[in-house]
Amino acid sequence: MNELPTSMRASVLRAVGDIAVEDRPVPEPGPHEVLVRVAAVGTCGSDTHYYEHGRVGGFVVREPLILGHEASGTVVARGSEVTGHAPGTRVSLEPGIPCGSCHECRSGRYNLCPEVRFFATPPVDGAFCEYVTLHEQFAYPVPEDMSDEAAALVEPLSVAVWACRKAGVSPGSRVLVTGAGPIGLLAAQTARAFGATEIVTTDVSERRLRMAAELASAETIDVRASGLADSGYEPDVLLECSGNPKAGAEAVGTLARAGRGVFVGLGGDELPIPLAHVQTREIELTGTFRYANTWPTAIALAASGAVELDRLVTHRFGLDRVPEALTASARDETAVKSVVRPQE
Ligand SMILES: [Zn+2]
Ligand SMILES: [Zn+2]
Repeated sequence: MNELPTSMRASVLRAVGDIAVEDRPVPEPGPHEVLVRVAAVGTCGSDTHYYEHGRVGGFVVREPLILGHEASGTVVARGSEVTGHAPGTRVSLEPGIPCGSCHECRSGRYNLCPEVRFFATPPVDGAFCEYVTLHEQFAYPVPEDMSDEAAALVEPLSVAVWACRKAGVSPGSRVLVTGAGPIGLLAAQTARAFGATEIVTTDVSERRLRMAAELASAETIDVRASGLADSGYEPDVLLECSGNPKAGAEAVGTLARAGRGVFVGLGGDELPIPLAHVQTREIELTGTFRYANTWPTAIALAASGAVELDRLVTHRFGLDRVPEALTASARDETAVKSVVRPQE
């Protein structure tokens, strides 16, 4: 344990489409930080977007950047003020450290903190590397029988938990989930765990719809074959996870009276909203940005089996194959979630 190396391998985005493994110094934990040996890192649409376009919205890569923000690992060293987190503790990492003192932080909305330092968001490095440091309060111990990969996927599960909270999913809710990618599959499972009694998932992939049916007992609609409106389904809640503006607009038009639509997926810049529907039915619409105070809930949902994380992992790559990991879902229709394992 105390024989830590001084340098490590890191997968670095150097320019658009150019990722290479470089040697970097192993970071030193600050007084309140832990040093974590990274075990597994999920790949996310935003990582792929940075790799292919060098930016996500207003966040632009100007310096070499280490991607990856869905991480788990083992604590191997602690800063001088850290008292918990004995070395050897396996942890899931919440990858955004808010400032703690701005108006948003003090209002309990730390996901909206303008000063947040978030992994893999320029200029903050992420976790496609062998070691990272993190504030101890954002490194959450996980149960022994939770896999490293599941512990990493607590991050996207947190996105789903936050979306279900914002949507007010509660016992008896009728929920529509548009898009059955990793976030949609997690949103459907989380909605079920929150008490939703009817869940309908839409997608254009039969394979993914089958997963939604299995994992969340969701009814499914292949929107290539039949329009959503034709189904007559009137959900209380829409969790828009496709990122497709057309799908999102059509889905808003199905919401029941006093329904809520939550936009979770990254997508087109603009959406044509069926305004009369929104007005006459008093529909509430909101977006979600990351999450706040979700890790304990997400870990508990995964640990209890209410949400299945391991089954989402279809592809695994070592640190030298990050480009393949980031493009797997575009090349291979069987890919759901690709995971990078930096120690391999
Ligand atoms: Zn993500
Ligand atoms: Zn703040």
